[in-house]
Amino acid sequence: MKKIFCLVCCVFFVFVLHAENLLVNPEFKSSNQQTPDKWEQFQKVPCLSVFSTQDGILRISEKSPSYANMISQRINIDGTKSYYFEVEYKADALPYPAGVYYYFFDEKGTRLKEDYFALKTLGPQQDWQKITRVISIDNPVKVKGIRLSFVSYSKGENSDNAIYFRNPVLTEYKGQKIQAEAAVKSNSSDQLPDNLFTHNLTNTQSGVPYKLEKGQVGFLRFDTPKLGRRRNMRLNIQGPENMVFEAYFYKNTGLDLLTPVSNNKGNLSFDISSAYNWVSWGNMVLFTAGKDVPEKFNLQITLTAVKEKKSWSFSIPVEQIQSDRKYAVPKYYGYYSWHVFPLGRIDLKKCGPLAERLKNNWENSGWKQISFSHIARVFPTFKSHYSGGETSIPLGVNASGAPTELYCDSALLAGGTAFFIEQIKRNGKMEEIKNYTYVLWDYEPYCAGPVTISCFCDACIKNFTKDFHLPANLSGIEILQKYESQWVKFRCRQRAETVHTAVKAIKSINPNAKFMFCSMPLPPQKDDDYFRRYGIDLRLFDDFVDIHTPMNYGKSLDFYRSIEREAKELHHSRMTIISNGWGDASVMDPKRMAIQMLAAFFCDNQTPFIGQGLFIAQGDQVKAIKEMMTDVAQTEENWGQGNFDPEKIMVKAGFKAEKNLYSIDRKTKNGKKYLLLLNNDDRETIFAKICPERNKYLEVADLLYKHVIVPEKDEYILKLYPLSYRIIELSAQENRKDWKREFSKDNLADEEKAINNNEKLYRTISKNGITCRMTPDEYHVMTLSQSLIFSLKNSAQAEWKIGKKTVISSLGRDSFMPQFQLKNYPATLDACQIEPDHVKLTLSYMIDQIPYDGLIVRKSFIVYNNKPEITVDVAIIPENGFRQFRYRTTHVLAIGKELASKEDYAFRIEYQINQVKDNSGKTVSYIREGAKFPEKQPFFPKYVSEYKILIGDTFVAKDKIGAGKIILDATGVDQLFLWRIQSEATLETIYPDAYPVNDPHTVKTWEISYVLKYEDSSK
Ligand SMILES: [Zn+2]
Repeated sequence: MKKIFCLVCCVFFVFVLHAENLLVNPEFKSSNQQTPDKWEQFQKVPCLSVFSTQDGILRISEKSPSYANMISQRINIDGTKSYYFEVEYKADALPYPAGVYYYFFDEKGTRLKEDYFALKTLGPQQDWQKITRVISIDNPVKVKGIRLSFVSYSKGENSDNAIYFRNPVLTEYKGQKIQAEAAVKSNSSDQLPDNLFTHNLTNTQSGVPYKLEKGQVGFLRFDTPKLGRRRNMRLNIQGPENMVFEAYFYKNTGLDLLTPVSNNKGNLSFDISSAYNWVSWGNMVLFTAGKDVPEKFNLQITLTAVKEKKSWSFSIPVEQIQSDRKYAVPKYYGYYSWHVFPLGRIDLKKCGPLAERLKNNWENSGWKQISFSHIARVFPTFKSHYSGGETSIPLGVNASGAPTELYCDSALLAGGTAFFIEQIKRNGKMEEIKNYTYVLWDYEPYCAGPVTISCFCDACIKNFTKDFHLPANLSGIEILQKYESQWVKFRCRQRAETVHTAVKAIKSINPNAKFMFCSMPLPPQKDDDYFRRYGIDLRLFDDFVDIHTPMNYGKSLDFYRSIEREAKELHHSRMTIISNGWGDASVMDPKRMAIQMLAAFFCDNQTPFIGQGLFIAQGDQVKAIKEMMTDVAQTEENWGQGNFDPEKIMVKAGFKAEKNLYSIDRKTKNGKKYLLLLNNDDRETIFAKICPERNKYLEVADLLYKHVIVPEKDEYILKLYPLSYRIIELSAQENRKDWKREFSKDNLADEEKAINNNEKLYRTISKNGITCRMTPDEYHVMTLSQSLIFSLKNSAQAEWKIGKKTVISSLGRDSFMPQFQLKNYPATLDACQIEPDHVKLTLSYMIDQIPYDGLIVRKSFIVYNNKPEITVDVAIIPENGFRQFRYRTTHVLAIGKELASKEDYAFRIEYQINQVKDNSGKTVSYIREGAKFPEKQPFFPKYVSEYKILIGDTFVAKDKIGAGKIILDATGVDQLFLWRIQSEATLETIYPDAYPVNDPHTVKTWEISYVLKYEDSSK
């Protein structure tokens, strides 16, 4: 009896333990030692070697071709409950974040918008650290499932640092203890890293040339958190003769100008003693190039840790850019830059001449210095944004009663001005607020989630039900089920009131202080979901905010819609914060940023902000701003006199303009009207038609080009090149005899031509027995002897057919070795020309993934009319700078596949290389003599038992049953790989590295070509 009882007890106990954790296989059992069983692997480019799982520990390496590398599981949950999550992790020092990420699903399995991090870390974390979290559901009505992912974001790192996880638990929240984690322990300060600067000294990818304005000052960043403990370093810089350098490093309270220990014709050395702090932003080497320095040159940088005898070297290509324009600075308009290192930390009375010149150049681009007191982290709103010490304000609770990361809004508001003044005092900000004209609060509670996530404590529910005359006993879940829109309104109002209270506190300390409010912009359109998501409606703040500084980041037309809406609906002045990208080359876009700034001027932002600003700007950015500012200087006397005008002149979108054209209106007291017309697209030329009311304005002129526009049937038709703008004046007849006439008729003719060319490209064309036809997803080419179907959604891969039979199912499946697949990129048809005996067409696609982002692959095909033969020219165009790559193209065979056979396809395919047949049915590979491979080994050793020598340039594959034959003629191939397994067989060619040496100066378009022929030997 006793025994049985024990057994029952044990079984029951085990059952409870297992039932608790909703995760399947939390023990990370793995049958392949790479990914844990029952968990899914997510990567844009699959690369299994990123993961390893052993002894219950999941390891995710940063060495990956994909940006996001995830191990993930989807679990059904009840949205009206809260959940508890814990996991242990440790991490190496990582250049990009890693952690735990989750989002929710609805009933239909559709992913809901919001996503959250339970952990986001850069490491290093040497000891196992347990994190404990409450998972709050922001949408109890809809949420039916969660996807939880362990993730590492990487960017093609060569090093093999990793994050490790073990023992994850996901279970219903029932008051489990949420523990604060110890601060990340950085034990690695004594270990010197391989990768010292994630910003590559230039804020662009390594190998991308630094843009230096000719005659101006450029700079290289030398801040890094990776050197840890201060140490003695030697910095050597080598450039062409006639370069001038100044080095600034941080010590005690500011930047010191260093004296070189040696300086010999462009070869300098500096000793940076352990008194200097490597973490500090502002550590920089400024440089300028003398007149006879070539347009393109290299800076060779070597840093040596003296005691440890470890060196790092960097080759920084520099490209000088110039302009033939004479720049001017506007009188009225300018811009402010948040980060202006090194200038922000250099004592300008004790600096060198280059720092002085840098300052002048920035000022000549319209840069204005404003100083303000920044009160981030002082008031308890969002836990991880608060560092103001112990507080009486309780944390909020979510709709099902579990604690959240936000403080209770009602309690904060109830604290009144006294509480806010006390917080200012405690954080030592009294003097600062008294002394500054401007005080800025960066208020971002929405970072924790939408307003439906918190707080539903008794006080918050009481305030809400009182405001909306609802029964006082509603629960959080009931509120979200029945009164969500009222709740959103309530929270938006309450947050505005809270900020108002803080403003009263600030003004009681300094009545003259101007309050700047940094938060979300007005939504581009009327959008309730936006207020639910952000809980910030700037209109509710307008009465007490002196200057709105909304963070309006984005590339689309929504940027303009928001600033225009703010100009229309807010009364207080605005200094919109325009993003200019942080760290990542792909988001930097100098011309667009200048246009956004100009649009802000048109919407009465006299001095917009740029976010990270001049600290990360290269010469191209400053040049783009200077050019725009010069346009402003030349025209501000006209349009600057007026105000933003919400009454819009009708501007019709012409060809390609629908999604790219924007117009903003201004008006002066004397009745003149101004239009800023802009093309937001970086590739298309667009057309716009200004349609003013008949007879209201007698003259329409372009103030920048000094053109008087001549209408065509009451429409003023204009052409706008990619990322360009025009400033148009509508007025009574002016005396502009010497201005050029721009005829709408001519622009209309250009537009018609563009439309015709476009139609020609896209319509079905038939000639000489050849037909070309486009569908949304494909491009079909049919000749008398063969046809090809190109995928426009998948990198122009093609299916090759002879008659009705497919002979190659995937022609031209590209990749870069070792494992970067060029698939699923949208392809465009650039040209198609039918000749009597062939059709020639060109398709291209652009790679948008790091590290190859910006490379364009262009393929031209000659498809013959009377013979089953195709010539393919492949060109890879190095947009966005130098990147080394090694091209491989794969053709998947389908000859004879329609024929039934008992034999595996692999055994039916016979290869013939240099007259020698191979019928082994196995994967084989051939290597060119003298070919150079990374790590001195040809590719795919796992699949090949023996490499043969590659002789000749003709490679044949034949189906022994159907007797169809594919002949590939290709020169310059280093390795031929013939994959043959079960039902698959391929012809794959691997080429040498595109550039013989890793020197950015050798960058040029890389080209190869090959010919494919089909023969039927049974006939
Ligand atoms: Zn509350």
